[in-house]
Amino acid sequence: MVFVGRCSSCDRPARGLCGSCREALDAPPLLDLAPDLDHVHGVFAYSDGGARLVRMLKFRNRRRALGPLVDALVATLPSGFDLIVPVPASPRHRRERGYDLPELLCRALSRRLDVPMRQALRRTDRGVQHARSRAERLETDGFVAVRGVAPTVLLVDDVATTGATARSCARALRAAGAGTVELCVLAVTPA
Ligand SMILES: [Zn+2]
Repeated sequence: MVFVGRCSSCDRPARGLCGSCREALDAPPLLDLAPDLDHVHGVFAYSDGGARLVRMLKFRNRRRALGPLVDALVATLPSGFDLIVPVPASPRHRRERGYDLPELLCRALSRRLDVPMRQALRRTDRGVQHARSRAERLETDGFVAVRGVAPTVLLVDDVATTGATARSCARALRAAGAGTVELCVLAVTPA
């Protein structure tokens, strides 16, 4: 038998992601984040099999499934992006994980689509949380574009739940000059 590696989700012998774990992934629900995002592209629903797979990718460092998942993402995406931008990980999430999944996805997409990627966003909430009321904190709990932004941007994250983070990122990108901003994620949480 030729050793092909192990399934990222269940650890059985498979290339990246085994057939039954693939079948356990439900189609992503539609997420409408207009007018901030022009479109949301996802690969699977963040439920059961999808949630398990994301946990394994994020917290167990099971990266082998990334290849087939990036293939699936590329298949859903139109062409014509000028720039790929990751949603910045929060400092807490960076400590919890060994690595930054959105950034890893960005690098893979950048190679596959032949579009440059740039860490163009920065969180603006550092150091102000204790000084402000909850309402003020929510209003300022956002992002700012810190480097050059292109007309058509693909924003990348691992999971979209309410889409609030992506909206905030998209507004920062638009404020810096982006005209079209689309979001691509691995998983979309059902409402
Ligand atoms: Zn499996």
